[in-house]
Amino acid sequence: MGMRYVPSDLEGEANKDLEDLRNKLLSRPSPGASGPTGSWRLFRPEVSAAKCVKCGICWLYCPEDVIAWTQRELPRIDYTYCKGCGVCASVCPTKAIEMVVEGE
Ligand code: SF4
Ligand code: SF4
Repeated sequence: MGMRYVPSDLEGEANKDLEDLRNKLLSRPSPGASGPTGSWRLFRPEVSAAKCVKCGICWLYCPEDVIAWTQRELPRIDYTYCKGCGVCASVCPTKAIEMVVEGE
């Protein structure tokens, strides 16, 4: 039998390896002993569509990993687990995130 060429999806395999590694290394937001951590929040981050340049820095720095980001969309914050720490607002280079009092 001769050798057979089997095409491989190297990029797909590399992406899967990275995703597997990410899942092993990073914890995911999950409920604390007293429920979802968003219930602790006193201030709520709100993103201004007019000011956001979609740079992803807020996504990179959020200590709770509750910001979803792509280069084409505004960052989306999972308020179920966002603790309202304000790190995202502090690091945003265009001041596009305002911390507002929760419930207002
Ligand atoms: S850091 Fe600010 S400008 Fe950058 S994506 Fe987040 S909200 Fe938008
Ligand atoms: S306030 Fe804190 S937990 Fe909430 S999205 Fe910003 S950095 Fe993440």
